[in-house]
Amino acid sequence: MSGTVVMKFGGTSVADAERIKRAARRIVSAREQGHRVVAVLSARGKTTDELISAAEEVSTNPDPREMDMLLSTGERISCALCAMAINDLGHRAISLTGSQAGIVTDTSHTKARILDVRADRIHEALDEDLIVLVAGFQGVSTARDVTTLGRGGSDTTAVALAAALDAEVCDIYTDVAGVYSADPRIVPDARKLPVVSFEEMLEMSASGAGVLQLRSVEYARNHNVRIHCRSSFTEAPGTLVVGEEETMERPLITAVTHSRDEARLTLLGVPDHPGVSGRIFTALAEANINVDMIIQDEPDNDGAEAHMSFTVPRTDLRQARLALDPVAAEVGIRAISENSDMGKVSVVGAGMKSHPGVAAKVFSTLGDQGINIEMISTSPIKISCVVSVEAVDRAVRALHEAFDLGADQIEVEHPFGAPA
Ligand code: ADP
Ligand code: ASP
Ligand code: MG
Repeated sequence: MSGTVVMKFGGTSVADAERIKRAARRIVSAREQGHRVVAVLSARGKTTDELISAAEEVSTNPDPREMDMLLSTGERISCALCAMAINDLGHRAISLTGSQAGIVTDTSHTKARILDVRADRIHEALDEDLIVLVAGFQGVSTARDVTTLGRGGSDTTAVALAAALDAEVCDIYTDVAGVYSADPRIVPDARKLPVVSFEEMLEMSASGAGVLQLRSVEYARNHNVRIHCRSSFTEAPGTLVVGEEETMERPLITAVTHSRDEARLTLLGVPDHPGVSGRIFTALAEANINVDMIIQDEPDNDGAEAHMSFTVPRTDLRQARLALDPVAAEVGIRAISENSDMGKVSVVGAGMKSHPGVAAKVFSTLGDQGINIEMISTSPIKISCVVSVEAVDRAVRALHEAFDLGADQIEVEHPFGAPA
């Protein structure tokens, strides 16, 4: 008997009955090759979005604990249906909720972190020759409540299970054939990347490449789990996300990523006292809000006010205001303004560490397009620019072209797999 494989199917890959049966056949085929199979499923199609809308229809500020009770149902539906389809193929399957599967998290509802995987129930089921289906995106908190892991969290469920079960590989089946040099929905001639290092994938996911949730990549790097991100519609190999030692020499730039989900907050008239910034960002951290870019204008000699701007995910804007308003009143910030229509474009590449000039090219490319750069941040292998959301697509295409990332010389694939 060969080893354990974890196979994760995303929302599009289980969107309707036909696709659930297709996933079931693929899972059975892995079992017939002799593997012990654990499959992690996402909610079908747009189910999670619909559940969020349903909550917003009944409440302006849905209670996070109840939100998690609601959101966790989508993945359970997929797993139960897929188990039925597998049973009809003559195999035995059991579906488990995140809690039954032993996914233990902290108590931060709607973006919980996995603390432990107690996989004894999965081991028992595998020992009984069952195919195990685990509802993605959810767990049970140390306070025994149902939690969810943040949007895209089924990827993290899959990687965490692969680590706990010492699986050979964590296959992430999705609606694109792998990780591309840019989102193929924006850049049709984007190139499929055969191998990406954890380091680069972390920067890509952190800057908006939602094909793999950021935490899944962090988890994979920390536990050395090989991820194979591939199409659920074809057999072709996809993208391996692995340790840097397994990647060959990297090009200067690997990918252009983007996000349309940024919001900017500007604090006007920030008092010039030590400790004020600490107060502001402690309040945000305590509200579990991830601040991305920060800019502070020093007051000049004319006595002009000091401003501070930073970006947060748009979905956290309301929570950020709730956390900031009392601090602002207390420390004497004059006003807070918001812009919720911001986006971000980034270029990522391990090769830029040793090559100057990347930033210059990014800025001049965006400048030539007449795109205003509102904020900038860099890491050794990434340059990100905040731009207005309507400029994002144009910025991505221009940068992809400027850095010659296209697939011209490489075989062109249909990025969305077989037609639906
Ligand atoms: P799933 O439901 O399978 O988890 P997601 O929608 O979360 O799928 O992720 C797949 C999507 O990620 C693709 O349809 C694609 O539009 C988007 N995407 C963004 N950036 C990239 C990229 N660099 N490479 C591949 N896909 C990307
Ligand atoms: N269903 C959840 C979402 O839409 C989790 C996932 O798909 O990974 O975000
Ligand atoms: Mg996803």
